[in-house]
Amino acid sequence: MTRVLVSGEGRVCDPDVPLLHADDLGLLHGDGVFETMLVRAGGVCGLARHLRRLAASVGPAGLPAVDPAQVERAVGVAVREWSSPADGVLRVVYTRGRDGGDGRPTLFVSITPAPARAAVARRDGVRAVSLPTAYRPGLAATAPWLLTGVKSLSYAANVAALRHVQSLGVDDAVFLAADGTVLEGPRSSVVAVIDGVLVTPRRDDGILPGTTQEALFELAAARGIETSESALQVSELYDADEVWLLSSITLAARIRVLDEQVMGAASVLDVAALVAESAGS
Ligand code: PLP
Repeated sequence: MTRVLVSGEGRVCDPDVPLLHADDLGLLHGDGVFETMLVRAGGVCGLARHLRRLAASVGPAGLPAVDPAQVERAVGVAVREWSSPADGVLRVVYTRGRDGGDGRPTLFVSITPAPARAAVARRDGVRAVSLPTAYRPGLAATAPWLLTGVKSLSYAANVAALRHVQSLGVDDAVFLAADGTVLEGPRSSVVAVIDGVLVTPRRDDGILPGTTQEALFELAAARGIETSESALQVSELYDADEVWLLSSITLAARIRVLDEQVMGAASVLDVAALVAESAGS
């Protein structure tokens, strides 16, 4: 099948038949969390990391605890149904359930074909612009309601940012905090190679901790490649050996042009190969 839909109970559903109630709070308020994973060669890349992040997201989002075994069962059913040899995008969606309902969360798993733009970005890299946000460093610790480290269903601002940059004729964006600190992309983590060191913004401050970046840094550490989590200014990106946007579906896309500046492509590290190797872990 080229589209798969599985209910939280592990029942294979017709993807053309509606699954949700119109009063589901995931739909009405974006009140829920999700995970997006790459399905490749009959397996799910980084499943354990995604399940860990899902479990870590439900607490801050005030959702009922998620049963990882139940999610894993539904994921297993979905992957067995996915007969396409092409890459797929597997989503696990977990919402607060129905407005005024019995408090039972909604859970479902879907798989759809990976978008063509992912392979293009992996192959050709991307042009990006930096975009301001109102975030200031340190806010996450005092404003937990912002759900900054949570993969929340409230994604409209992220996709609006992508529409905005597309209207400017570029492919992607890098969000900056109010003081210019680099945060993340609307759907990716930022990793720079600076003097041969892999550097990413602090994972606990205003960004979603990426599973792809995490897997890369673990592999890098095992290979003796230096890594660092630290505050970065956009000017440091302009001067970096290379800058990459990392995410579960695209894996690694090098930023070719940022804010109209042609970016370096001179890393001693083969970041794309390291990401491809670590993505399964
Ligand atoms: N940051 C944001 C805002 C994202 O939406 C994503 C992925 O969708 C990421 C980072 C990268 O996370 P991952 O590598 O787990 O896909």
